[in-house]
Amino acid sequence: MTIREQLEERELEYLSPYVARSKESKGREEEEAECDIRPVFQRDRDRILHCKAFRRLRQKTQVFLLPDGDHYRTRLTHTLEVSQNARTIAKALRLNEDLVEAIALGHDLGHTPFGHAGERALNSVYHFEHNVQSLRVVECLERQGRGLNLTWEVRDGILNHKTAGTPHTLEGRVVRLSDKIAYINHDIDDAVRGGILTEDRIPEEIRKILGQSGKERLDTMVHDVIVNSMDRPEIQMSDTVSKAMRDLRTFMFRNVYLNPEAKGEEKKAFHLVKQLYEYYIEHPERMPEKYQLAIQAGEWEKEQIVCDFIAGMTDHYAVMKYEEIFVPQAWKN
Ligand code: MG
Repeated sequence: MTIREQLEERELEYLSPYVARSKESKGREEEEAECDIRPVFQRDRDRILHCKAFRRLRQKTQVFLLPDGDHYRTRLTHTLEVSQNARTIAKALRLNEDLVEAIALGHDLGHTPFGHAGERALNSVYHFEHNVQSLRVVECLERQGRGLNLTWEVRDGILNHKTAGTPHTLEGRVVRLSDKIAYINHDIDDAVRGGILTEDRIPEEIRKILGQSGKERLDTMVHDVIVNSMDRPEIQMSDTVSKAMRDLRTFMFRNVYLNPEAKGEEKKAFHLVKQLYEYYIEHPERMPEKYQLAIQAGEWEKEQIVCDFIAGMTDHYAVMKYEEIFVPQAWKN
């Protein structure tokens, strides 16, 4: 028996009856020989961790654009926090931790530069959603267009991680909820850091239920998911905590996500991304060769390929390209 086979056996004995078992995966688009050490979802997790789009997350906005301070979240640290919350929940519920981790690490790979401002910009010129783009990254952009050939369960979890989505596995649902839990809590922390918010402005009714500090609120939410989902084929919170969390999210939209002070630069980011798009539609020959070849191959519309290029950019790379194209450069002798 290989190590992988032993690990698969252990899953059968130990994990919850509602788990997505590695051995019963619906499989990959292209069949591959199995690894002798790692079950399929563990292998997928490693593939995502090693891909280029994952490393670029470190220079992509979470909420605050190009922040000066070293302690603000980026897409990468957001992703790691989602993964951490999701693994804590999955472990407690005896779900598949490897699957949860793979989905969490991959869920935001398709995010544009400048967070949701970038997403809105691409969506205003072409239909663009970051969750669909995350799937595109792992299916057809990574590894020179060959994709990572991930299992169906990981791809399903990535595609359906948005609030309105319904992942088919409990592991996917754990990540979807962990994403919300992570961003609500760390965005409060960053907003306080940025002077946009003070803790005492969070309504008392919400603090009474969820806790007075970030640490307490995170703890309440994670515990609540675990207690209410134990030995059930569903991932859910109690009505009280769920409502308080919704109210907190609404509070965040009003005070942080749509705050003109915090978001003042977003209009510029929106126009920067839109102008880059319009420029590359006119001048596809200025994109890296692989995108030009993709247009020639004709499998996807030119608009899609230009979105692929721009969505893949980090904040810094997008600014650099913008300056190169639209800002006159000093004469160098
Ligand atoms: Mg996310």
